[in-house]
Amino acid sequence: MRIYVFAPHPDDEVFGAGGPILKWLEEDHEVFIIWLTDGRAGYRKSRELGTLIDNEETRITEEQLAEKRLAEAAASAKVLGIKPENCSFLKYHDRDLQNHVYDAVEKVARIIKNPDRFVISSTNNEHPDHQATHDIAVKVAEKLNLKDIEFYVYAYHTALKANAEHLVTVRFGNLRFKALEALKKHRSQFFTPDLEWQSKWVEGKRRDYYGRYKLADKGKFYNF
Ligand SMILES: [Zn+2]
Repeated sequence: MRIYVFAPHPDDEVFGAGGPILKWLEEDHEVFIIWLTDGRAGYRKSRELGTLIDNEETRITEEQLAEKRLAEAAASAKVLGIKPENCSFLKYHDRDLQNHVYDAVEKVARIIKNPDRFVISSTNNEHPDHQATHDIAVKVAEKLNLKDIEFYVYAYHTALKANAEHLVTVRFGNLRFKALEALKKHRSQFFTPDLEWQSKWVEGKRRDYYGRYKLADKGKFYNF
C-alpha cells in the first residue's frame, strides 16, 4: 500500500501517526509524509502568554524557527524510517495555510502517485491549519477522482466521533518508544509548555484510532 500522511505542522506526523507509521513500515507499506506548513508560529502563543522558556535557542526570529522546525521534521522522519525522497515540505507559513488552499491542492496533486490511503486531520477542526490540511487533501482526491482510496482521519485539536463501522484501531505496542524518539527530534517545541504532557501521551499510548472513510462519505460525518 502507498500511504500518504498529511502533517499540517512539523510534529503532527508524530501526533497524528507516529506509532502507526512505524507499524505500517514494518508491514512493508510505502509511507510518505507531506508537511504543509513550516511551523514558524510555534512560539507565538507561548511567547504571548509568557510561558515560553527563554534561552539562546528560543531567542530567534520566526524565519529562523521555520528553518529549524523543517530540519527537525526531517530528523523525525529519519527516526520513523521514512525515506528522504518520500518526504515533501510545502513550506507554507504556519497559521496562513487557509489562504493557500488552491495553490496547495495543485502542489500536492503533483507530488502524490498512486495513493491507497490518505492519513489526514479532521474536519470541524478548531485549528485553521489543521482544517486547511483536511480541505486540501479532500480537494486533491476530488481533483484526481480518487474514489477508491481510504481516508484515515486523525483527531487532534478536535474530537474523534466515528461509529463502529468507521472506526479503525492501529495497534503498535512498544513501537511507542520509537515514536517518542521521533517526537524528541522536535527539540524546539520542548521549550513550550504543551510538549511535556504531549510527550507523556506519545510515550504511553499503544494504539491510535482513526475514522475511515471514502470520498463518497464526504460531509456525512462529524470528522469527514
Ligand atoms: Zn499542528
